[in-house]
Amino acid sequence: MSARTAVVMGGGIAGLSAALLLARQGFTVTVLERDAAPPEELADIWDWNRPGAPQMRQLHTFLGLFRRDLLTHLPDVYEDLLANGVEDIAVGTPSGSGGGDPDLAVLASRRPTVEWALHRALLKEPDVQLRYGTSVRRAEVSGGRVRGVQVRGGLVETDVLIDAAGRRSPLRDDFTVLEQEVECGVVYNTRFFRLRDGAARPALQRGITTMVAGIGFGAGLFYHDNRTFAIGLGRLPDDDALKALRDTDAFDRVTRLFPEFAPWLAEEVSEPLTEVVPMAGLRNTLRSLAPQAPAGYFVLGDALCTTDPAFGRGASVAMHQAVQLTQAFAQAPDEAPGLAGQVTEEVLRWVRPLFEDSVQADIGRTKLWEAALTGVDLPLGPGSPAANAFTLMEAGEHDPVLWETAQRCANLLAPLETLDTPETRERLRLLRSSGWRPAVPTGPSHAEVAGAAAGTLQLQAR
Ligand SMILES: Cc1cc2nc3c(=O)[nH]c(=O)nc-3n(C[C@H](O)[C@H](O)[C@H](O)COP(=O)(O)OP(=O)(O)OC[C@H]3O[C@@H](n4cnc5c(N)ncnc54)[C@H](O)[C@@H]3O)c2cc1C
Repeated sequence: MSARTAVVMGGGIAGLSAALLLARQGFTVTVLERDAAPPEELADIWDWNRPGAPQMRQLHTFLGLFRRDLLTHLPDVYEDLLANGVEDIAVGTPSGSGGGDPDLAVLASRRPTVEWALHRALLKEPDVQLRYGTSVRRAEVSGGRVRGVQVRGGLVETDVLIDAAGRRSPLRDDFTVLEQEVECGVVYNTRFFRLRDGAARPALQRGITTMVAGIGFGAGLFYHDNRTFAIGLGRLPDDDALKALRDTDAFDRVTRLFPEFAPWLAEEVSEPLTEVVPMAGLRNTLRSLAPQAPAGYFVLGDALCTTDPAFGRGASVAMHQAVQLTQAFAQAPDEAPGLAGQVTEEVLRWVRPLFEDSVQADIGRTKLWEAALTGVDLPLGPGSPAANAFTLMEAGEHDPVLWETAQRCANLLAPLETLDTPETRERLRLLRSSGWRPAVPTGPSHAEVAGAAAGTLQLQAR
């Protein structure tokens, strides 16, 4: 067995990116994916049966880091995405002009479209074997090293095993330790739509999104590829009044409450593509390698760390980890199995602050939303650095330096510490002393949203 052979377990964003990068580094790669192959034609993408990655039917944004990694390491995939209806949208500046930083742009794409393009690229690689409908059951280890994985039909031998099987990886209890797990405190409900032929695309607020500032609930519209878009409504898991949002009629009544969405939802502008798809049980989880993890076992993507989708980081983090892995391999390809500890440590150094930030922001948001439900008026505090990124973005409407700082952090192009420097503090202080304050949400109250969900509120876009 040569160390230039790798088995990738899981064909999601992490696994497909790692497989492609490794193949181009000279590895012979086998991808083992439990779900079926994607359809040949992108037009058939919603027919793809994908129980292994149910989040495929949830709204997604692909941040600046994801785009920069594609452009730098997989430019053919970037080109293929653009040739197939994905749009590259500059984050821009509050004044409406393009910003000075060319990295400040995001990709408007559905998640399965990205996977479809990664699959297409892999199919062109001569040393890649893609085995769909193949579930990994366990790993074979001897002498402290990975020897292969067991699937129906026998052993697939390898001494480099990439575990990219997502948050429910069957190897997580064998080879990783759960360091921390904190509920996100939000249930998402998403419905996809398509702009009708000939209809002009309504304006977007920032990048690919238009967000509604709600207290006690969240609402966002994300633009995707091929003139599709999705609306997501978030609620607290225990919020019985908003449980009805999983029902399409209730969902539609609530979305019509928000004037921000009205230009998109007009009958002559768009039509629904899907029913509402709920997603619950989401957690921030951080794992590390267990002491008994064998040489040759590498863990990436959601299998290592998940963060609240509200920040749209998962896919960017997954692909960037694949980049980090292959960069480490490039230094010593024949020593790859021995690099597991070093690579995981490096990945965790980068990911841990993002995880902690997500946890803190979730705790802050949950308090705020729970207060809205119980009628307590909670002051809007600065919260975590992520909350600061949103505050800075608002402040950035008046200060282009703050705008760019906030956008670079939100797009994972700069570390979160850069949100809180003497310069940003001084700029915020100056703005505050000129009378500026973060905006207070003025949209529908939680009670109005609950009334619309129940069908007891007369609807009028405000
Ligand atoms: C509601 C929601 C919204 C989100 N929005 C965003 C967003 O806007 N932006 C963003 O970047 N991220 C977002 N994410 C997160 C993002 O989708 C994931 O973080 C990212 O896709 C992680 O990819 P992955 O490859 O690690 O895992 P997954 O995508 O979960 O892929 C794991 C793969 O492994 C396969 N598998 C599992 N077990 C086995 C096995 N035993 N054998 C073989 N194969 C197996 C599965 O079928 C699947 O294909 C969102 C997530 C949710 C839930």
